[in-house]
Amino acid sequence: MKFESLNIDQKVQRAIQDMKYEHCTPVQEQALPESLEGRDIIAQSQTGTGKTAVFLITAIQRMLESDDKGREIRALILVPTRELAVQVDKQAKELCKYIKYDSLPIYGGVGYEEQEKKLSKGVEIVVATPGRLIDFVKSKKVDLSGVKYFIVDEADRMFDMGFMPDVRFILGKAPHKSKRQTMIFSATLDSRVRRLSEQFMRESVVIEIEPDQITVDKVEQHLFHVSKEEKLPLLLTLLSKEDMPKVIIFTNMKRTAERLCFKLKGNGFNAEAITGDIAQSKRLRIIENLKSGKIPILVATDVAARGIHVDGITHVFNYDVPNAAANYVHRIGRTARAGAKGVAYTIACEDFVEHLPEVEDYIEQKIKVDHIDFELLKDKSGPYRPKPRPTDRSAGGGRGVSGSRPPLRRASSGAKGHDSKPFRAGKTRAGSALGRPSGEKRTGASGTVKKGMSQAERMAHYKKKYGGKKF
Ligand code: AMP
Repeated sequence: MKFESLNIDQKVQRAIQDMKYEHCTPVQEQALPESLEGRDIIAQSQTGTGKTAVFLITAIQRMLESDDKGREIRALILVPTRELAVQVDKQAKELCKYIKYDSLPIYGGVGYEEQEKKLSKGVEIVVATPGRLIDFVKSKKVDLSGVKYFIVDEADRMFDMGFMPDVRFILGKAPHKSKRQTMIFSATLDSRVRRLSEQFMRESVVIEIEPDQITVDKVEQHLFHVSKEEKLPLLLTLLSKEDMPKVIIFTNMKRTAERLCFKLKGNGFNAEAITGDIAQSKRLRIIENLKSGKIPILVATDVAARGIHVDGITHVFNYDVPNAAANYVHRIGRTARAGAKGVAYTIACEDFVEHLPEVEDYIEQKIKVDHIDFELLKDKSGPYRPKPRPTDRSAGGGRGVSGSRPPLRRASSGAKGHDSKPFRAGKTRAGSALGRPSGEKRTGASGTVKKGMSQAERMAHYKKKYGGKKF
């Protein structure tokens, strides 16, 4: 279905064309005809499906159709994270390019003054995280009595992140459900989300689309079985071999993300890490740098990556097999947004390989086991020492990088990353590639692995157990 066939104002249509949207995505095709008629919508849709455009186009179009004048908040979009607020606001501004409506993101972690100043000038659309919005409501800087379009985005995450009491409070401050259009979007429509909709929505149209499977099918998936000492050399080899303009590397733990980023930088790769405790300003800067292509590699944990929506991710690495099977789908789905294709590499090591069967059950397919020749790393980065927290001391990514698209490696480094010794399974050098102290606790699939086994024996065991026959 084309956007032109929908009853949308010409100025909004023009903006949609400028954004290069031609055909509706499945969620748009199903939801827009209903929502544009003013119906309440509860939609199951994942990030990357085009759900943002559904609620924004609906709110903007219906605002244009209504008689309401005056500058007051008429569309309120609640989102779980600051990044998502920024993204949604950006899309709102793009859609309002040819009309007079303005949008404002409101989120915590930055000063109040600027947001307050913009609020006082009047805006029609507010995209907010709950905490900061409540501050403004309580201090009477925000009046929600004019809200006609109330959207809760990523409702399941709102629950997961403990925001639901805040969301309910805000819903209670807006006009009654009979006097507004309410739309809830969520990756899963579980009982919590349904209960919320029963309480705060009129009779709603339920839209369920894009099961996880579809996202997974659009991604070319590869799996490597290596020991944990070989993970970094394998990663560096893969990064060196292929053209990878935009990469996200997921780790299971924050400290792995930090170490890995250090190691990548030290071996000449242009990477930044996002972890939960970096300052908001730095976080936004890193995401912006990834988006603009200033840095090609982002290292992140699942939690830290929440709410980051970057188009054009070409490759996702699961540096660790995720602990939760659903995270595998969330991770690799970053590459296959709005119809794009992508590649996902999963590196299974003895620490996390035990999660693999659960992942494969979840996606209902066996991931193709791959093998490439790689060499052991001559680590140029030196020993890793965690920085004292807070870690927001170094500058953002992309410094010293020039040209329209920077190379994965820093030009200045000159590091080759590998020595000339070919890789032989079972002949890796002692110690962890990530500089982990040798005595550090190891979790994982050691149940059937006997203590005195050599590494080659252990790897043979894992490959047989988890990797199929072909190596
Ligand atoms: P979302 O699920 O809202 O985060 O959207 C994912 C990405 O898809 C965003 O970057 C949108 O700009 C893009 N997008 C949304 N709708 C369309 C469409 N109909 N055609 C192409 N891209 C789209």
